[in-house]
Amino acid sequence: MKTLELVVPCYNEEKCIRLLYESVKKVFDESEVDIDWSVIYVNDGSKDGTLNEIQRLAEEVNYAGADGNAGADVSACTKKIKYVSFSRNFGKEAAINAGLSASTADYVALMDADLQHPPELLLEMVKELDEGYDVCGARRVSRKGEPVIRSFFSKLFYMVINRMTSMELVPGGSDFRMMKRPVVEAMVSMPEQGRFTKGIFSWVGFKTKWIPYHNVERAAGQTSWSFRGLASYAINGFFAFATTPLRIAVWLGFLVDAVTLVVSIRYIYRSLTYGAIGNGVGTLTIIVAFFGGTIILILGVIGEYLARIYLEVKNRPLYIVKETNITLEE
Ligand code: UDP
Ligand code: MG
Repeated sequence: MKTLELVVPCYNEEKCIRLLYESVKKVFDESEVDIDWSVIYVNDGSKDGTLNEIQRLAEEVNYAGADGNAGADVSACTKKIKYVSFSRNFGKEAAINAGLSASTADYVALMDADLQHPPELLLEMVKELDEGYDVCGARRVSRKGEPVIRSFFSKLFYMVINRMTSMELVPGGSDFRMMKRPVVEAMVSMPEQGRFTKGIFSWVGFKTKWIPYHNVERAAGQTSWSFRGLASYAINGFFAFATTPLRIAVWLGFLVDAVTLVVSIRYIYRSLTYGAIGNGVGTLTIIVAFFGGTIILILGVIGEYLARIYLEVKNRPLYIVKETNITLEE
């Protein structure tokens, strides 16, 4: 039987831990899909009883066995509830990475703890992967219940990022997705520090299917994202993939120098035809502007090198192989 692991990052989600497990269980129990599923909770340094709640659930479920045989022997790979707990809050991106690194199943899905990602979709995702897709992501098609301003900035973010970086992000594409083992391996092979999961997904490629879903309200607890948090998430995402800002200086410097050149030619021409004019302020202005422009231009050149260093230190793999018929052994 195929195996499936659900990676669930949790930050202060004590009320959602059990709820999530039960909803997922209900979905799989009631369906024909035959898959050996389990959950990996990643406790991201929660300040409430999240870890306790996870441990209690693990004890209950793992040792009772699915059919209620108390004390049944459970090896690591058949544990229904697994968890990783951080020493402090490292953020959702780190939690996702920890979960992916710990996973071993054929299929791995990322899912929020708060049930905003409807578990029913898991069935559809399993089907899509069975049919040959490598990744199946859920795309939010309505933003009901979300502040208008937030939707606006979200749209703006996707527009800017798709224009200015080599990444292609699907608007509304969530972190709720299921992937096959090779995709997981590719994701965790990205060693960079500033991790922007959405961008990394787009970077690693693979055949992706998007299925639409509607926004659901949180089951319990409250969102840990403030508007500021979201803004900083967006900015991080942008800078993790874009080097365009570093390039602005080159153009700006070039522009200033070009304008100065035109003005100074006119100035020199006028001085030559009408004799010296004014008190030298114009000359000074031109000199200052010229040096200003040149300095910006040189900063831009430094920026170009910095951009390359920035990309190099990320130490990303050069490419990701999906299939080959060459084996190293033999
Ligand atoms: N989360 C996390 N670490 C954090 C913040 C959030 O692991 O520092 C988890 C959180 O527990 C939830 C998911 O990331 O499972 C999404 O968070 P949330 O629901 O607060 O975000 P929203 O749905 O409002 O975008
Ligand atoms: Mg949420």
